[in-house]
Amino acid sequence: MKKKKILLVSHGQFRKEFLEKIIKDVQLNFNVPVHHVVDRTDMSPFFDASRRQYDANKLLKSLDSVSTAANIKTIGLYRVDLFIPILTFIFGQAIFKGKTGVVSTYRLRNEQYGMIGNEDLIYERFRKVVFHELGHSYGLIHCHIPVCVMRSSTYVEDIDQKKHLFCPKCKEELDNLMAK
Ligand SMILES: [Zn+2]
Ligand SMILES: [Zn+2]
Repeated sequence: MKKKKILLVSHGQFRKEFLEKIIKDVQLNFNVPVHHVVDRTDMSPFFDASRRQYDANKLLKSLDSVSTAANIKTIGLYRVDLFIPILTFIFGQAIFKGKTGVVSTYRLRNEQYGMIGNEDLIYERFRKVVFHELGHSYGLIHCHIPVCVMRSSTYVEDIDQKKHLFCPKCKEELDNLMAK
């Protein structure tokens, strides 16, 4: 199996432990080396003033220029509100069978829904979205198994209902795709 690394590119103030956890969890579950860099580029070119959100498609394109041949996948981690034109907001997005993906904590926060904040819950949700988007980038499609991480999620409640793990069928498919 090829052992190219996954690159996580964080933008904005993430807690150190939060980043350490996601690096470790991706490494454990995808069984490839995971590297992390902090991105300090100006976010204003990605801001859509009329929507007051950041354009995920533009961010995906910009990540393409960061990723190198050494990285099999490059995932951007954000704290800002992301959108794609056809949706009000997104938790994450990835290029299907592509190299890049984006994930944001913004809509994963309880405060967004008038509830008391819960850092552990944000992490649990975040990890699921990161795994889900990585799954798409390797070529997995949505799964109907309720607890499978590849189940599609429209609301945070949907994310809470699934686990962070791939069901046996998706796991087998992922292993095959990753071995290519
Ligand atoms: Zn999806
Ligand atoms: Zn599945």
